[in-house]
Amino acid sequence: MKMNDYQKERIIGTLSTIKEKSPLYERIFKDVDTSKIRTQEDFEKLPFTEKEDLRDAYPLGIKAVPEKDIVRIHSSSGTTGVPVIIPYTKKDVEDWGTMFERCYRMAGLTAEDVVHVTPGYGLWTAGIGFQYGAEKLGAMVIPMGPGNTEKQIKMMTDLHSTVLCATSSYALLLSEEIKKRGIGSKISLRKGIIGSERWGDRMRERIANDLGVELYDIYGLTEIYGPGIGISCSYENGIHMWDDYLYFEVIDPKTGKVLPDGQVGELVITTLQKEGAPLIRYRTRDLTRIIPGDCPCGSCYPRIGIITGRTDDMVKVKGTIIFPAQFDSTLSATEGVESEYQVMIDHSEGKDMVTVFFETKLQDDRRPALEKEVLKRLKEAIGITTVPKAVNVGDLPRSEKKTNRIFDNRH
Ligand code: ZN
Repeated sequence: MKMNDYQKERIIGTLSTIKEKSPLYERIFKDVDTSKIRTQEDFEKLPFTEKEDLRDAYPLGIKAVPEKDIVRIHSSSGTTGVPVIIPYTKKDVEDWGTMFERCYRMAGLTAEDVVHVTPGYGLWTAGIGFQYGAEKLGAMVIPMGPGNTEKQIKMMTDLHSTVLCATSSYALLLSEEIKKRGIGSKISLRKGIIGSERWGDRMRERIANDLGVELYDIYGLTEIYGPGIGISCSYENGIHMWDDYLYFEVIDPKTGKVLPDGQVGELVITTLQKEGAPLIRYRTRDLTRIIPGDCPCGSCYPRIGIITGRTDDMVKVKGTIIFPAQFDSTLSATEGVESEYQVMIDHSEGKDMVTVFFETKLQDDRRPALEKEVLKRLKEAIGITTVPKAVNVGDLPRSEKKTNRIFDNRH
């Protein structure tokens, strides 16, 4: 994507002082004369910022303003246990709210809506972001947080929630519960704003049908404000991203080279307005592509594709690199296969074995044929031989957190 003049101006401005302001960038750019960066080509030679760098800067080495200007912190947990702390100034908090409000408007929300927020509150950015954006819009917020299905449903029916904010797995759990209780007619939901974890078309269809809502994918990560830096529109063909706050690149995760628009790679984000913790070329580890051309909705904001996975999720099996999204798309296109599945990768007798558990409503006698069909389709799509196993609907675990569906048991 071509860097526009506004973005270039902001980036040059940030680079002119970032080494003095930020201990993080004093280190990352120690061998770079940042005053010489003038063009997009120059910019694309700058070193990346990795999650590791943010972790090494714990607790506040990432901040680029005096501590008295910080009004809030958020934190993302790492797998290693050392958290990453992201400081926000007053302007950062406001900007995030402005972007979030824009997301809600794109999804067609108004001040009349009742927004039911189920993502968690606390150090991570989810709940409070959903809440502040909705308040800026003038809607009424029910700040539930996750869990306690009983209470969720009570509030939802008594207060007539019109918008559900949730992860896809929690939305699925709630929709199943509502269906089971036969209380669909008491539910006033019309929209679902779903956190951008990877989810299959079939799961999306089920949630939309069971809840009777239109669904929107919202994108974000704690390191870059939080959720709300982009959202899908009603045409459901990608996520519009707020490019007046952020600059996007998609790179080859192996070589670090910027890829042409349309090609799938790792999303890299540079903040244009952030004060507390500006980030330059931050590697998100999310796999997506920049969608070329204009969206029929008429929005001028550029689009990325729905996130197809994480660079950390790429698994090598029998010499082939596979992405979880490949299982999503193949399974959701197979008649008789329901939305939940789990992939187990094991190593025995010198060979990798991939077992694919999927849920089905079919009776036992019809399952062998379906397993054979799944085997054939996965072989075509991914190029490896798997062991498909049909199980009953409800047999696989549901989670209120982001669900990992691929388990590599080889190490
Ligand atoms: Zn659009």
